[in-house]
Formats: sequence, C-alpha cells, structure tokens
Amino acid sequence: MNINVETYDFTNQKIVSEFVKDFDLPTKCPHCNQTGIQQFVNGVLIEDNSKEKNLFFYGQLVKSFSIVTCCLSCKNYSTNIINYQNDSRNDSYYISLESTFPPFEEIENDPPQNIKDEYPNFYNIWKEATEAKNSGLHNLAGMGYRKSIEFLTTDYLLKNPIEGVTEDWITSPKTTLIQKINKLDKPRLVTLGKAIAYLGNDETHYTRIHEDYSMDDLISFIDLFISEIESDLKFTKAEKLIKRPKK
Ligand SMILES: [Zn+2]
Repeated sequence: MNINVETYDFTNQKIVSEFVKDFDLPTKCPHCNQTGIQQFVNGVLIEDNSKEKNLFFYGQLVKSFSIVTCCLSCKNYSTNIINYQNDSRNDSYYISLESTFPPFEEIENDPPQNIKDEYPNFYNIWKEATEAKNSGLHNLAGMGYRKSIEFLTTDYLLKNPIEGVTEDWITSPKTTLIQKINKLDKPRLVTLGKAIAYLGNDETHYTRIHEDYSMDDLISFIDLFISEIESDLKFTKAEKLIKRPKK
C-alpha cells in the first residue's frame, strides 16, 4: 500500500508529508504473535538534518520513519522503525524493517495455544523459566520448570475432577507434587510427571541424585507432558461435537 508519513520541518516550522509508495505493512503482531492484518494508523518521519547523524548506504541518504500499526486480532498497537532509501534515479524505494516495539519474543517450543488458554498460570511460569534458561540462568530455570509443572498438575486436577479427590486436598499446601501426580488419570501422565518432579527436585535441592539426566531431558519430558494434555483437550472437543444434540 501507499502511505503518508509526516515529518516536522524545523527550518520552516511546519509539518510536511512524505509519500511512500508500495510499502508492505508488517504482517505479524509482536503482542499476540499471530500472523494477520496490521492496520496502518499513523507514521512519522524521523529526519535529522545534522550531517553526521544521517545514514548513508551506497552513497544514498537513508531516512527512517516510524509507523504505528494496530493488530486486528488482538487490538494492540505496535511501533515499527523502518529505514528507507529513495533511489532518485528510478524513483524507487528500498525499505527495511529495523525494529519493532514491543520487540518480538523468540520462544522455542512455545506450548500450543489451547494449553496457553486453558492453563495460563502454568504458561506464565513456564515462559519465565524459559527466559531464565535463555539468559543462562539455569538454576532459576530448573526451579521455574518444576514450579510450572506443579501449577499445571494442580489446575489439571481441578479441571478434571477425580473421584475421592477434593478441591481442598488439591490446593492444600501440605499436599506434595508427587501425591498430586499419583492422582492423575493417565498412566503416561503419572510416569512423565514423576520424571519431571524427580529432575525438578534435582534442580531445587542441594544434592543432585540423577546425574545422568540433564536440563534438556527435563524440558523434553515437559514437552511430552504438555502434548499428552493437549491431545486430551482436542479429544474432549471432538467428544463434545459427537454428543451435541442433532439439529
Ligand atoms: Zn496481535
């Protein structure tokens, strides 16, 4: 699309518009990480006439402008700093995205959306643990992952009531993580949950017991634990459809 960006001309003390042709708007939102339409809201040219601050690329002046976009998915606003260079020889532009505010978070193995929606407490702690791991803070990451599984297990038990297991027992501070894991209704979840708790305890306690397992094992067990719960969520959705009264 073509957009108008405005700049303040200090010499003549007025706002002037610059027309930028064939500009491709960003297509991904840094808030919700969804790909979709980012509506152009406004643009401002950041022009600095002091010579030493201007950028040159192959002898051509590179200007930068910032545009504000609104994500049509989550309705949040983002600012994008864009460099552009007007090639006067053939009236064309070279445009590149320099940065986005807020910045995109690079999250590896990000859990599926339905897990994030169903278990937000788990996701928030998991995300912090992953940030700690990516920053080299491995001790904090290990403790964080263990805590994230405690929340996931507890919320799972609350959402999937099991006979003889009361809400008071599930939420009691006296109930241990292992006790809760033992109540899970699927053998694979119990095995994985226990393995995560053992390795998580290693990350939390003074003496490491399972020397032959690493943080990578812990993370891959958590991934599996999540995908077990995710397939359950999908199955329940399918079941709901089958059981729905026919129209
Ligand atoms: Zn969005």
